[in-house]
Amino acid sequence: MDSQVEEIKRKVDIVSLISESVQLKKAGRNYKGLCPFHSEKTPSFMVNPERQIFKCFGCGEGGDVLSFVEKNERASFPEALKLLADRVGVKLKQTAPDPAEKQKDTFFKINAAAAELYHYILTKHAKGKQALEYLKARGIVPAAVKDFKLGFAPAVEGFVTGYLIKKGFSPAELIASGISLPSQRSKNPYDRFRGRIIFPIHDAQGRTVGFSGRILGSGEPKYLNSPDSLIFNKSNSLFGIDLARGEIGKSKKAILVEGNLDVVSSHQAGVTNTVCPLGTALTEAQVELIKRYAEEIVLAFDSDGAGISASKRAIELAENQGMAVRVSELGNFKDPDEMIRTEPKSWQKATEEATSVYEFIIASSLKRWSGQGVDGKRRVVAEVLPYLKGLTDPMQLEQYLQSLSDRLGVRIETVRSQLTVGAKTEQKLAEEPSPKRGTQLEEYLLALVLSSEKLEIDIAEAWFEKAETKALLSLFQEEFDHKGKLKVKEILKHLPESLTSKFDEVLLQDVEEKFLENPEALQKELLLTTRRCQKLFLKKQMQLLSLAIKQAEAAKEQERLTKLTNRFRDISQKLSTLDQSS
Ligand SMILES: [Zn+2]
Repeated sequence: MDSQVEEIKRKVDIVSLISESVQLKKAGRNYKGLCPFHSEKTPSFMVNPERQIFKCFGCGEGGDVLSFVEKNERASFPEALKLLADRVGVKLKQTAPDPAEKQKDTFFKINAAAAELYHYILTKHAKGKQALEYLKARGIVPAAVKDFKLGFAPAVEGFVTGYLIKKGFSPAELIASGISLPSQRSKNPYDRFRGRIIFPIHDAQGRTVGFSGRILGSGEPKYLNSPDSLIFNKSNSLFGIDLARGEIGKSKKAILVEGNLDVVSSHQAGVTNTVCPLGTALTEAQVELIKRYAEEIVLAFDSDGAGISASKRAIELAENQGMAVRVSELGNFKDPDEMIRTEPKSWQKATEEATSVYEFIIASSLKRWSGQGVDGKRRVVAEVLPYLKGLTDPMQLEQYLQSLSDRLGVRIETVRSQLTVGAKTEQKLAEEPSPKRGTQLEEYLLALVLSSEKLEIDIAEAWFEKAETKALLSLFQEEFDHKGKLKVKEILKHLPESLTSKFDEVLLQDVEEKFLENPEALQKELLLTTRRCQKLFLKKQMQLLSLAIKQAEAAKEQERLTKLTNRFRDISQKLSTLDQSS
């Protein structure tokens, strides 16, 4: 099998494969185009024919021909392999079916059959009448019942179990799939879901992976989910993802609500990019799933205390993964469902005009501490500032400080003075990458070195921040000192495994044609980029020194202070010489 994978990878040409769905332009040793995996206006999607790899410097997707097909066609690995094998005329050897794959297949079949039965009971059978009435009273229309394939599980012990056994599934399979529970009294298992409205949970491809059952009438728990199984993992599934996927991809935005019914009524109101986690806090895996289709998350959780803290957690998770987040204003409604039933138009507006996360945090904190005088105001400031400290854009920071002080009725200077307690913001600002080339400056510099095929210019390892780029630099130096020339093929011969992915990233850098055609221009760009690297390094040194100076001042350590200020002056002189020469 492995050798077949290699054979197929060798035979497929990555440039012509990707060209079928992305318009590629030659760019030096690479090809570039607009990324098919995120929306962008300037190309950051690079393809390298030498190594048969691709990478997008905008969203980070990357890999070989197989991973491209997996992502682009949303295919599994075996499916992608089959597609490419057919393309280059390789006949795949049959492998024995994997027992786990077989079991997964059985579980999908069990769930599909159960979902059909539940849906039939709800929509056509007398036993489902009461549940259907309930949904109608909640404002759910028949079309939504059909789209979401909602169902009803009657309060009968062996209802779906008996049906599935008749269809040929074994009791053991039914228990393992989670649809049935083992019985103490009988050899046959019994139904997990009884007397519940059934919301089938689908994966992005629309396969039924599990169920969420809401009790009809009173009883505990209100919601019951299928247990995790080979095909279902509660913490990486999202209810509604199969129906919402298309619109999320188009709008690049996902609306996140708390409950299944919120999702159904939101879709019904025309906001079809809505999904929800399954009764638990949002997880990293769920954010990753959304990120495959969207760039932004709009949170519309319930407006109670639990909803607000769930929002705060979700904001942190999503921002950590580089997604934009906004929060919907639900006004006086307790959840989206209530808002949609009363004012469907306001719901659309609320999702479109969602406010910034920071306004949301300010508003919810003010709400919590309102009417508590100076002490309340102090608490609001203490609660909100840690979030604002995370802002790297000074204009934005100013705007929210203003908003906070206005709403507190406090002078902005007073609020700002609290912000500078601790030097956190200063550090945060210092970490901002240089605008040109962003976080890829080191890789770009190495790419220029590779393009020039020599390393005669002085580049210090210390200027680099990343361990891998440092290691590559010293590898290039060694190679050049040894052979007098830098050739990709030669470097690949003794490139350690641990550095291949960084090396590929360097190869995939976009070095403009005008530099490649003209050695003089290339040399100039190389020099400029080297200086930029050095300057960035010096600036960071100065920032560290200024912190140390402040500490020495506070501690009244005169001797240390003199040393530090001297060093600070030296570096700043060096920096201004560099500034003048570039
Ligand atoms: Zn991309």
